[in-house]
Amino acid sequence: MIPIARPQLGEEEKALVWSAMESGQLAQGARVAEFEAGFARYVGSPHGIATSSGTTALQLALLALGIGPGDEVITVSFTFTATVSPILHVGATPVFIDVDPVSFTMDVGQLEDAITPRTRAIVPVSLYGNPADMPAILEIAARYGLPVIEDACQAHGAELGGKRSGSWGIGVFSFYPTKNMTTGEGGILTTDDASFEDRARLLRQHGMRVRYVPEFLGYNFRMTDLHASIGIAQLAKLPAANARRHRIAERYDAELAGVLIPARRPDSVHAYHQYTLRVARRDDFLAQLAERGVGANIYYPLPVHRQQPFRDLDASRVPLPITDRLTEEILSIPVYPGLTDDEVSTIIGAVNATASELGELPRDA
Ligand SMILES: *Cc1c(COP(=O)(O)O)cnc(C)c1O
Repeated sequence: MIPIARPQLGEEEKALVWSAMESGQLAQGARVAEFEAGFARYVGSPHGIATSSGTTALQLALLALGIGPGDEVITVSFTFTATVSPILHVGATPVFIDVDPVSFTMDVGQLEDAITPRTRAIVPVSLYGNPADMPAILEIAARYGLPVIEDACQAHGAELGGKRSGSWGIGVFSFYPTKNMTTGEGGILTTDDASFEDRARLLRQHGMRVRYVPEFLGYNFRMTDLHASIGIAQLAKLPAANARRHRIAERYDAELAGVLIPARRPDSVHAYHQYTLRVARRDDFLAQLAERGVGANIYYPLPVHRQQPFRDLDASRVPLPITDRLTEEILSIPVYPGLTDDEVSTIIGAVNATASELGELPRDA
């Protein structure tokens, strides 16, 4: 079976982790600072604040904006659960809007109607590595004076109009093992705002600027130097890894038949964290791919507004027809850089054979 993800770690990661272990500096130190500077430079943002995960980076962003009980945060339900759980953890209320069926990202046409006097932030998701329509979202947000946090946890290296994900203001990334680059576990918050950055750095470390003297109630959301060492090596490999993802995606675009392939705006660079198809009879499709040796997967089998921690919220009573329909149709096939050309051919053959056997596109395709 060709697996859906396969992290690639090598001698560079080993050497850096080993030298960090030998140095005796294990927790947040010089390696974290080096990683933060390198990643921020890569995305084109002035500041990076590394964290223990993408989830804590998102929580840190909300906390640094002062968002809490009584506040509303507009986001999408067609995403990983951790886009939304930090909104609840800070005591705020999510407000879901639907996604665009072609881009899989926030339907900007619904954004303005969702803004109320209690709205305090907007969290679009650059899902599967396809950038959300940040220029349009930022234009609306600016008219209402609202901050925007891009959930770029799947969008390392994605671009729109020549700007990378994470460089639009506030961005959040994850370095979980299946992402385009990993630190084992880890995340980072990027920002162009120095006072927001200062507040986030303090919140990450018990509210302490001076050791043992908290200025306000904080957290321990730090990354370790061991994890940052993996990240430094992975970041150096990211451009080549993403280029390989693009070459695989180009073959899929050209050679797959009988399925809806992911769309891409001409002015964008897709990070192809996932290569996600839309098919009719999705569950049969998935089973047949498995029989043909291809480990496809569904991201995600339940939209957030139908998951146990969220389904009783008022926000979850709003109809999200596109989110619900896409959830029934989506299927991601392996697209990671470690795939061999033969494996890519096997995947193409399996998808095309399954499509010709099941022979239907989604309803409105
Ligand atoms: C992975 C991911 C997160 C959470 O990141 P972790 O590092 O796993 O905490 C949040 N949002 C999206 C869209 C993700 O894919």
